[in-house]
Amino acid sequence: MSAPGHVVVVGVSAAGLGTAEAPRRKGLCGRLTLIGAEPEPPCDRPPLPKQILSGAWQPARTELRTAEALDALDADFLLGDPAVALDVERRGVSTAPVPR
Ligand SMILES: Cc1cc2nc3c(=O)[nH]c(=O)nc-3n(C[C@H](O)[C@H](O)[C@H](O)COP(=O)(O)OP(=O)(O)OC[C@H]3O[C@@H](n4cnc5c(N)ncnc54)[C@H](O)[C@@H]3O)c2cc1C
Repeated sequence: MSAPGHVVVVGVSAAGLGTAEAPRRKGLCGRLTLIGAEPEPPCDRPPLPKQILSGAWQPARTELRTAEALDALDADFLLGDPAVALDVERRGVSTAPVPR
């Protein structure tokens, strides 16, 4: 088996987290980077217009993973700027700030 490489996942939500967790769990990646357009930690979206807007839930209840689980992923989280380009030849992903 080849040496673990650097895995970059774009999108930090349900699918992105699952995509990142699988190779980490199987020991298939060394460095792991998750790039998310939103500055907030990943959250479960369905309760946002319902339980959160109505005030029935505290926002923390929508967190998809605990802080401990995110720490255990041993990943670099680049949150707040979207990925805007993939350079296949140089094997790089670029991000760009979005005016907020
Ligand atoms: C308000 C709301 C209510 C919903 N209610 C329901 C419901 O009741 N029932 C139901 O079944 N589903 C519901 N959904 C849909 C459900 O939340 C989605 O199916 C689920 O979130 C899909 O997860 P995902 O990880 O595939 O995509 P998403 O949750 O859409 O996550 C994709 C992530 O990738 C990020 N991203 C995209 N492009 C880039 C880029 N270039 N660079 C960096 N990051 C990027 C986005 O910012 C986002 O955080 C709802 C969605 C919303 C928004």
